[in-house]
Amino acid sequence: MRHTRMVCGARLPYLGVMHLGDVLSLQAKSTRRAPAVSFEFFPPKTEAGWAPLFRTISEFTELAPSFVSVTYGAGGTTRDKTHALVLRIRRETPLEPVPHLTCVGHTRDDIRRILELYAVNGVETILALRGDPPTGAKFHSLGDFRHAADLVRFIRDEGARLGVHGGRGFCVGVAGFPEGHPETPNTLHQLDHLKAKVEAGADYIVTQLFFDNHAFHDWRERCNIAHICVPIIAGIMPIPSMQGLQRMADLAAGTRFPAALLRQLAQAGGDVRAVEDAGIEWAEQQCRDLAAHEVDGVHFYTLNKSDATKRVCRALECARA
Ligand SMILES: Cc1cc2nc3c(=O)[nH]c(=O)nc-3n(C[C@H](O)[C@H](O)[C@H](O)COP(=O)(O)OP(=O)(O)OC[C@H]3O[C@@H](n4cnc5c(N)ncnc54)[C@H](O)[C@@H]3O)c2cc1C
Repeated sequence: MRHTRMVCGARLPYLGVMHLGDVLSLQAKSTRRAPAVSFEFFPPKTEAGWAPLFRTISEFTELAPSFVSVTYGAGGTTRDKTHALVLRIRRETPLEPVPHLTCVGHTRDDIRRILELYAVNGVETILALRGDPPTGAKFHSLGDFRHAADLVRFIRDEGARLGVHGGRGFCVGVAGFPEGHPETPNTLHQLDHLKAKVEAGADYIVTQLFFDNHAFHDWRERCNIAHICVPIIAGIMPIPSMQGLQRMADLAAGTRFPAALLRQLAQAGGDVRAVEDAGIEWAEQQCRDLAAHEVDGVHFYTLNKSDATKRVCRALECARA
């Protein structure tokens, strides 16, 4: 079932040929400057997790996201579930599914087979990532691709060969790190590496989650100076709990937690509800500020839950209006 999709705030019939890169660029150039919204999910760990996840996904449908993305386990445990979830979203919802695809541990043939599966099922956009190797592993033993830029190039070539988007190839997104990536302390080099991904054919950038908008604004300006001109989508996650905060600090190493945010969380004390409210309010403020700074898009890390993200989204809607 394919129904409609949103472009620049207008609901257009789904034509099956629209390139997400064009949709995002159009939205970014629109005089209304309404940021695109998108949502990230991860595959359910158990069979029983599928039905609640699909209820959550259907709740997000009414917010007319530009796309929804599905994470990929670089460790290898959930890879088939990623494919299954992406294909179900494609078949059963009007949403544009974007699979994450990491190249660590994959050969060219592995990636080719995955791309063929997506191409024949009408999945035409991929978020191309390197992934993180298991601790202590050597890169040369970890597949045919060293950096995400190599994967981007391969996906573009394969997409053209497979006739995706009439031979234009897959639309490709890549990751950006406003507060830096732990492996590259030299921030000038890091910008070069991001630019290499765009020059290899990336159509848009989705950022790592961040809580300090100043860092994002400054990084976006540096991208601009470096002539990185594709749409940049800001990654936002409302802090769900104090344990969630710890997990984020581990997973998104290097992310700054501003003192004002930590103060609000500390004031919430041990009250679970108050912590969640503080996380939502912080994310709402971030979104209002991002909309005021004409961000191209906001990507929500949903943790497969709808309530907090929907509340934050409403704040963004108000700012957009
Ligand atoms: C939006 C988003 C979604 C993500 N989704 C997933 C997911 O689903 N599954 C998952 O496992 N992980 C995911 N990740 C995590 C990601 O895989 C890791 O952060 C990984 O370490 C970096 O991936 P990358 O694609 O940016 O790699 P790259 O662009 O290859 O960069 C990795 C490191 O290598 C450096 N580098 C790049 N090119 C060169 C070069 N030519 N010479 C020297 N150094 C270089 C970069 O500066 C960086 O430090 C996601 C991250 C983001 C921001």
